Amino acid sequence: MGRLMRWLAPAALAAGMLAIGAGPAAAFDGFGEPRTDSTYGDEVTFDIDLRGGAPEILELLIRTTGSDGAFVVSVEPSGASARYVWDTSVEYVTPNTLITYQWRATDDGTVALSAEEQYRYVDDRPGLDWQSAQLGEATVHWYGGAEAQARRFGELTAVGVERAERLFGSELAGPVDVFVYATHDAFFGALGPGVREWAGAAAYPPLRTIFMSLEGGSPEYLEVVMIHEVTHIVWNDATDNPFHEPARWLNEGLATWSETSDDSGERETVEAEADEAGLFAFEAITEQFPIGQRGGLLSYAQGTTMVDLIIDRYGTDAIARIAAAYRDGASDAEALEAGTGIPADDLYADYFAEFGVSAPTAIEPEPILPSNVDRPAVGHVDPGGVDPDLEPPPAEPAPGEETPPRGGSEPAVIIGLGLGLALAGTGAYVVARRAERRAA
Ligand SMILES: [Zn+2]
Repeated sequence: MGRLMRWLAPAALAAGMLAIGAGPAAAFDGFGEPRTDSTYGDEVTFDIDLRGGAPEILELLIRTTGSDGAFVVSVEPSGASARYVWDTSVEYVTPNTLITYQWRATDDGTVALSAEEQYRYVDDRPGLDWQSAQLGEATVHWYGGAEAQARRFGELTAVGVERAERLFGSELAGPVDVFVYATHDAFFGALGPGVREWAGAAAYPPLRTIFMSLEGGSPEYLEVVMIHEVTHIVWNDATDNPFHEPARWLNEGLATWSETSDDSGERETVEAEADEAGLFAFEAITEQFPIGQRGGLLSYAQGTTMVDLIIDRYGTDAIARIAAAYRDGASDAEALEAGTGIPADDLYADYFAEFGVSAPTAIEPEPILPSNVDRPAVGHVDPGGVDPDLEPPPAEPAPGEETPPRGGSEPAVIIGLGLGLALAGTGAYVVARRAERRAA
């Protein structure tokens, strides 16, 4: 077997896809051993040696946990090696993300793939001298003097998993990692941008990872939070399907209900809001919760009390039936009906009746009025980097007529967004709790 065949054969086996071209073998003669390194919050570097020289086209295929497809990067070789630097200071990547990657070379019509490699991106910031211990299904990670708390969280993982498995009629699908941060600063540094400032803990179900802040509340409070977070992971396993995530109010409601196996004191919040500004339609809190404190607290409270109502009237088996329906691809309404036997709209109506209010109705949006911004006269528009010869200023609109924004920098924005979406592949995450929800 010639040298060419020696690398073609393993590549074909590893990747299951190979196109053999008609041309003669080029200088490129296979991949060396891939090397990966990273600095948290800074970069991930991918290095590869190119035996025999560079191929015509070299690409790196990157996949992260929870993403459906690979992100393909074109890499310019430098002689007989190549390096790709993934700037994670710009593209936030959650710690403990498992990166799966392959190099792809195309030379003279022949495509060669390196073996699939995996690399775990870890939080290696200075001062975080991680230690770990395995307790059943949980691996707990801590630094400094937090071993006792970390081990306690590991024990509680088992408690929460068992409770949730019984409620959902399913089993945990794999191990769980728990990272314990001593300070809020370190915790928020791990979670990156976009996390609500009230978060004291967070679960990332696709990564099977929970992040805890020891400054998130009293030890008793954190124990309850631990149960809450692990419930999210079991629920994610129980409802795993390729179509959609279950309603967020249900996910958070189940996690909060599981803290104490009752409505966790959330009923008072709903009663107070029912008397004041009113309640949310469940369809309004299916995807995201409002950012503000009132909206956030009420969303958790409605979810928890709805779960309590379902269990009270239809039994805990109703929750297992709902989970099973999601696994089979049911919509939210179909899953709720599969669990309770009544249409979701009737369930919602029963809920609002329970609190003595009528079901909220949709509010019609206000029409968008024509712009009242004064525009410079034609001929005096600052082109802002756009060559006026290529893109003349827009004609002055007739009174009351709208003009679309010019947006000279729009393409750059769109590309930036595209990259962000492609690489934010840790999947949807569920942030835990708001520390002020209950005085700890
Ligand atoms: Zn939660």
